Amino acid sequence: MSETDPESFQYDAAVDPGEKRQFRYEVGETYLGDAVEIPVTVINGEHDGPHVVMTAAVHGDELNGVKVLQEVADRYTPHEIHGTLVLLHVVNVPGYQAQQRYLPIYDQDLNRSFPGKERSNTAGRMAHHVYQQFISKCDLGLDFHTSTRNRTTMYHARADVGNPDVEHLAEVFGTNVILSGEGDDGSLRAVATRNGTPTITIEMGKAHRFQPALIEKALDGVENVLADYGVYPDGDVSEPSWRKVMGPTEEKRWIRADTGGLVEMQWGPSPLVHEGDPICTISDHFKDEEHVVEAPFTGLIVGVLENPVALPGHPICHLVRITPETREEIEREITQGEFDGYRSYGQRWMADDEEAE
Ligand SMILES: [Zn+2]
Repeated sequence: MSETDPESFQYDAAVDPGEKRQFRYEVGETYLGDAVEIPVTVINGEHDGPHVVMTAAVHGDELNGVKVLQEVADRYTPHEIHGTLVLLHVVNVPGYQAQQRYLPIYDQDLNRSFPGKERSNTAGRMAHHVYQQFISKCDLGLDFHTSTRNRTTMYHARADVGNPDVEHLAEVFGTNVILSGEGDDGSLRAVATRNGTPTITIEMGKAHRFQPALIEKALDGVENVLADYGVYPDGDVSEPSWRKVMGPTEEKRWIRADTGGLVEMQWGPSPLVHEGDPICTISDHFKDEEHVVEAPFTGLIVGVLENPVALPGHPICHLVRITPETREEIEREITQGEFDGYRSYGQRWMADDEEAE
């Protein structure tokens, strides 16, 4: 990349090259007429380069990404950055204050409201401010999410790998698993990508928690991206030892309970299960009957029920089929102890389901 003079980053105001600014940005008002303000960090590097936007808590109770952005804001200085980092620490402030997924008023989903409109409902107005002032001005985006309550999801990226720019971004970020798809209408990722800001979603673990192992992985992923795109040329790029890109047509199945009762997970410690392996048992309260749920094919468990009671039809876990090569690579890692304690560590590997993003 040829070095040109760095420029200021413009929103309502301007952040000059070499400046790190941390501020609150107003996106609405409360019933009392007080400002609803999101915390923002802009680090405009001393050198020219791409603008990278990172967002967290678009769903108000999804906290791992909030911690990731706090660390990113603290870690990088304008001196070493080529380009600009735009960090929207908490996008859905009303949801965050209530510690819930949606905007508390009318239960609107901010992540179905992008790009928003000046004159629209509350979520649409908030989305509009955030999108126009910050996201639309960036060259690539990372949007951090977790699973919804009572479930957990494997650490993975969601990306439209049919778009080469998005595919590159997802591969560089470096999760083992990439779920491919365009994303829902009105989601930050789908809208930004369509409008020329290639964006991926990172799904990491559970709502209402900080999960240090996942936060560390995500910080490594951020550094991979910043290094690869020349934003932080001193950074290290690490590659995952295996990668599985799951297309929309790939076999993945929610394994469902056929009986009601108490669920005890049997799989693990790694998320790899072979055909016929027991995934869990479901027993009645008197322990008279025990029903074993077996894996219908060899695959990877990418999402799992946490609430340990089930009804017939209840989803137990989300299983995706893998190739023999991926299976061998994972088995090799298992023998090296890579997955030791994975399940008992609060599913540090596991993340969300379809409802995640
Ligand atoms: Zn989410």
